[in-house]
Amino acid sequence: ASAAAEKDVVVIGGGPGGYVAAIKAGQLGLSVACVEGRGTLGGTCLNVGCIPSKALLNSSHMYADAKHHFKNYGINVGEVSYDFSAIQKQKDTAVAGLTKGIEGLFKKNKVDYLKGWGKLVSGNEVEVAGLDGATTRLRAKNILIATGSEVTPLPGVPIDEEKIVSSTGALALKSVPREMVVIGAGYIGLEMGSVYQRLGAQVTVVEFLDNIVPTMDAEVRRAFHRSLEKQGLKFKMATKVTKGEVVDGRVKLTLEPAKGGAAESMECDVCLVSIGRRPFTKGLGLENVGVKTDSRGRVEIDSHFRTSVPSVYAIGDVVPGPMLAHKAEEDGVAAVEIMAGKHGHVNYATVPSICYTHPEVASVGMTEDEAKGKGHEVKVGKFPLMANSRARAVGDTDGMVKVVADKKTDKLLGVHIMGPNAGEMIHEAALALEYGASAEDIARTCHGHPTLSEAVKEAALAASFGKAIHM
Ligand code: FAD
Ligand code: NAD
Repeated sequence: ASAAAEKDVVVIGGGPGGYVAAIKAGQLGLSVACVEGRGTLGGTCLNVGCIPSKALLNSSHMYADAKHHFKNYGINVGEVSYDFSAIQKQKDTAVAGLTKGIEGLFKKNKVDYLKGWGKLVSGNEVEVAGLDGATTRLRAKNILIATGSEVTPLPGVPIDEEKIVSSTGALALKSVPREMVVIGAGYIGLEMGSVYQRLGAQVTVVEFLDNIVPTMDAEVRRAFHRSLEKQGLKFKMATKVTKGEVVDGRVKLTLEPAKGGAAESMECDVCLVSIGRRPFTKGLGLENVGVKTDSRGRVEIDSHFRTSVPSVYAIGDVVPGPMLAHKAEEDGVAAVEIMAGKHGHVNYATVPSICYTHPEVASVGMTEDEAKGKGHEVKVGKFPLMANSRARAVGDTDGMVKVVADKKTDKLLGVHIMGPNAGEMIHEAALALEYGASAEDIARTCHGHPTLSEAVKEAALAASFGKAIHM
């Protein structure tokens, strides 16, 4: 083992939680090292998550647009085709550029980058099994666990990453399957299902519950479900997959109604298992130092990101809360600010969530049902994109905005948007919520014309005054 080095902070994990925390620590003048075992920085998000999936969503959307919609705009392109390996290459180039970019940011912010797997040996010591074979011990005033999450396996359906794949395999398929079954109608299932459906696969999504994406506002979710069906995705709701095996290159699945009943079988070329992710703490040595986890394996923390061992903090996918990259980043910044004696804080009530399908679905704050469940008397304003001039001008009108506000005070409680660019549009609502705005505040804010964002203003008008202008 090489000589011990003393740091203010040692971050274990170089994903959006860990790498952002490390950069922030450097900016605050703390001495910091970041230990990452996968060989590249950026974690799940950059390497096998957010970024590669958005590259494939974009390419497949452009292809489907050219093939099915260009003629609506009077554009003739002749036969439209794609080169799947070139699509994959564009994705890989984007990922490689971004992960390298973080190495540059580490240098700029004086973050030591150790390539290897970290293990806690005490509340102030991390042992790193280097990818080069060397072992290093780091001493640290504080340790930040940012080891993220991994795919939740489905018993009876073993993942081989070629025929039965997780999101990682689905991002790296060598060809577009003819028939694909997606298990789980959550974010990954609907995003990756959309990619392959657009590229020509017949995609069937099997979901255990009665609804897709259970966390979405019920009304928006139903509109979204219809929209996906119109595009050609098929759904088998309230159904579970009990077995999956590869026979002669085909995947044979056994399905059962969720509530019990007769089994049926189904075949496909590729099956995607996307039933969620679970915290990743393998080999981390939590038990060596007494860092407590809950019944779902998540590292327990207090409101200051402190684990049961006071010098050890944890953030991101490995702790309870939404498994989102931007949430992990906010956690990382706040945790490091606290270590530096500042007042880091994350307002989880204003963390947006976005499904990057087409249309996109974005939301922030409470759904209507959630607000009612928390005892609010609510008023709701809705505005369909069919009545929005920009959506009409560009011929992309499938969607709506829904504003949920408190009936007595008009205080904004939640905003839900389905439509093209919903993921960009949601942030005025996030800001409004953060500032404690009323629905009237949004309704009285001048919005540029013609924009899709005017639909947010109109829905706020409907919530606050009971009437939108253009409806
Ligand atoms: P991770 O990104 O998982 O990073 C943890 C890192 O720690 C990993 O690189 C791992 O190798 C490393 N590590 C683990 N243990 C050790 C150890 N002992 N020593 C050293 N290193 C270790 N979120 C969004 O917000 N938007 C999206 O569009 C989105 N799309 C997604 C698409 C897919 C297909 C998937 C799978 C996820 C997506 N997510 C998205 C979720 C997002 O990727 C995660 O929420 C985010 O990456 C969590 O960040 P993290 O830093 O907590 O953990
Ligand atoms: P998810 O939790 O979003 O969805 C899982 C779905 O699978 C749920 O609808 C659930 O009811 C269903 N399910 C569970 N067990 C099942 C079973 N046995 N059979 C059939 N269906 C079953 O999980 P995911 O889609 O795997 O995504 C994992 C994580 O990654 C999520 O936390 C998500 O937030 C994150 N992610 C985010 C984005 C984004 O922000 N755009 C994109 C991809 C992934």
